[in-house]
Amino acid sequence: MYCPFCGTDDTKVIDSRLVAEGDSVRRRRECQTCGERFTTFETAELVMPRIVKRDGSHEPFNEDKLLHGLQTALEKRPVGVEQIEGAINRIMHRLRSTGERELPSRRVGEEVMTELRELDGVAYVRFASVYRDFQDVSEFQAEIQKLKSDLQ
Ligand SMILES: [Zn+2]
Repeated sequence: MYCPFCGTDDTKVIDSRLVAEGDSVRRRRECQTCGERFTTFETAELVMPRIVKRDGSHEPFNEDKLLHGLQTALEKRPVGVEQIEGAINRIMHRLRSTGERELPSRRVGEEVMTELRELDGVAYVRFASVYRDFQDVSEFQAEIQKLKSDLQ
């Protein structure tokens, strides 16, 4: 960290504390050259990676789209709004923690399937059948069998 007064990079942290909700850190620094003190704030970067679609085009991550996808799969299923929000938060957390700036849309789809598998078997198969674009009935049945054996 460069000193904003004299420009040297020789500064020392003399105090460090969490701010407000604990999502940022306030640091007091002292320049070892000119002796001036200044404050910096450090916040985790909460930026979602951009999504690379199957055709190679990019789009910003869209939380509404994710919500819509989950709601469609969970239509008329006994899963509450809070559970859906929890799933969205976990998906976004996992996508962010990859540290990647770009992720394939496939990756988002896989995360959705992971969550639906936990939330509701019917919704999982609904989503998987559309998402994986099953070619025939036997493939679809194989997926259901797999789900059944996992749940036993
Ligand atoms: Zn200085």
